[in-house]
Amino acid sequence: MGLFSNKISRQEVKPGDHIYSWRTAYAYAHHGIYVGDGKVIHFTRGGGHRQTETGTFLDKFVVSSSSPNYPPCPICKDKHSFNGDKVITSCLDCFLAGGNLYLFKYDVSWVAFLAKPRGGTCTLAPSDPPEDALFRANFHLLLDGWFGDYHVAVNNCEDFAIYCKTGLLVCHKARFGISGQVNTAASVYSAALVLGLSGLPVAGFGAYCFVRLTSDVGMTAKLGVEVIKVPVERLIALLKLYDSPREAWLSIAGSKFRGE
Ligand SMILES: [Zn+2]
Repeated sequence: MGLFSNKISRQEVKPGDHIYSWRTAYAYAHHGIYVGDGKVIHFTRGGGHRQTETGTFLDKFVVSSSSPNYPPCPICKDKHSFNGDKVITSCLDCFLAGGNLYLFKYDVSWVAFLAKPRGGTCTLAPSDPPEDALFRANFHLLLDGWFGDYHVAVNNCEDFAIYCKTGLLVCHKARFGISGQVNTAASVYSAALVLGLSGLPVAGFGAYCFVRLTSDVGMTAKLGVEVIKVPVERLIALLKLYDSPREAWLSIAGSKFRGE
């Protein structure tokens, strides 16, 4: 794995890793948590989903990060024929869908962060131990795959993987989710606005860096706004208190998932 490349081999991937794969000629990436044994847990958009994008600029940058039309797989069998948005488990081949394997990086410096030409590859936020990522991913499988409605801007596959790795969950007031690909698109848009107003490329790039840095989940978590931390211990404690795991989850993330 090179200094500036996140590409890894199948021999290098470890349980609890946040991995991703580019889709459609690098237009967007699909993200998940590798859980070992050649399996990946990831958040997908269900078949026949309503269009949640409402003609915003995001449409031009990001498209659905799920692949509901997987061909039948001898390992995954019928697990992809679901209705509705779900956290599912797939074999690595189905997850990659012919693409290369990349490792999402945590706790990167702001220099390394800005050196990345596109978002959705790294974050300033530190990750929790791999066991925590595995627990959170499996917790949502236990909830029959429930992680709320898939939304390209505020609740997508990258948001789910980052949440599994860090426990950071964007609260309902956030304009966008924590996914870097969306936030980078937003930063480009904001920078373009500043550039248009000032006419100065330097000001535009400065604004782009500022917006991208401050929209990264690591930075928003440090600022203590828009993001809550869900420690694994809290999930375990809640499982003991509630009969239904879904109720336990709602007690944590209710304001977001009830759309309040
Ligand atoms: Zn498969």
